[in-house]
Amino acid sequence: MRTISVGIILLLTAVAVVLGVTVFLTTCVQREGEVMNEETEAILIPGAGDLTITVVYDNNPYKQGLETAWGFSAYITGPEKTILFDSGGDGSILLSNMEKLAVEPNKIDIVVLSHIHGDHTGGLESFLERNPDVAVYLPESFPAKFKHKVQAQGAKVVEVEQAMKICANVHSTGQLGRWIKEQSLIIRTERGLIVITGCAHPGIVKIVNAAKDFVKDDILLVMGGFHLEWASRGKIEKIISSFKQSGVRYAGPCHCTGEKARSLFEKHFGKNYIGVGAGRIITMADLQ
Ligand SMILES: [Zn+2]
Ligand SMILES: [Zn+2]
Repeated sequence: MRTISVGIILLLTAVAVVLGVTVFLTTCVQREGEVMNEETEAILIPGAGDLTITVVYDNNPYKQGLETAWGFSAYITGPEKTILFDSGGDGSILLSNMEKLAVEPNKIDIVVLSHIHGDHTGGLESFLERNPDVAVYLPESFPAKFKHKVQAQGAKVVEVEQAMKICANVHSTGQLGRWIKEQSLIIRTERGLIVITGCAHPGIVKIVNAAKDFVKDDILLVMGGFHLEWASRGKIEKIISSFKQSGVRYAGPCHCTGEKARSLFEKHFGKNYIGVGAGRIITMADLQ
């Protein structure tokens, strides 16, 4: 009897030990799995060759055959969602440039509007006539009338106040600035952040710092309107040195940056200056 009891106790102990070890191992494996997932997400960020930014609207010429007009709009593919950032000033120019660049309005999931000015929002109505099945991310400060019109065309309105995630690896800085509230786009790539601005009314340095504060990473490229048309050479050079201090690797000023500032950026960034105009296509191959 006694031998049997000892045998049972030993057996139970063995079972308990095996169960314990199994539970322990499972937990470890799960934890490891979780860590793996985080790492996998970090590895899968866009920029693994497939991020493409196509400037569909700008007042600076780049590609022959495209119309240039005051305003800005860029089409972004590669991240989880396909995005149109700003809509230029004129719907027919926007749609005609898109067609010439083989950009299909129907492929766009999200429209992000930087700020209320007509040279960034003017093309929206015509675009929504072609594809109303989108979410329009706009600064919360936009007039109610504007938001209602977008909804009336069948699109979803997402009001942006603070910095927020738009989709995997794409964020908004949130609406910045006092008088003219403006949001900028932050795209996370494997080589750092790409910041795209509309007019940079809140100040380009402030926007870059806000982007860096929100998504803690190095800045690979800052592109878009820098709003330096009437800035002095001294002020522009101060901004350029601030870019360098913040570790901005590439600069692609266009739209309202002005010729003087563009040539100074080109001088100081050298081969890391990206010439941006209507029809320019930027891929990770340009940002080595
Ligand atoms: Zn503006
Ligand atoms: Zn503008």
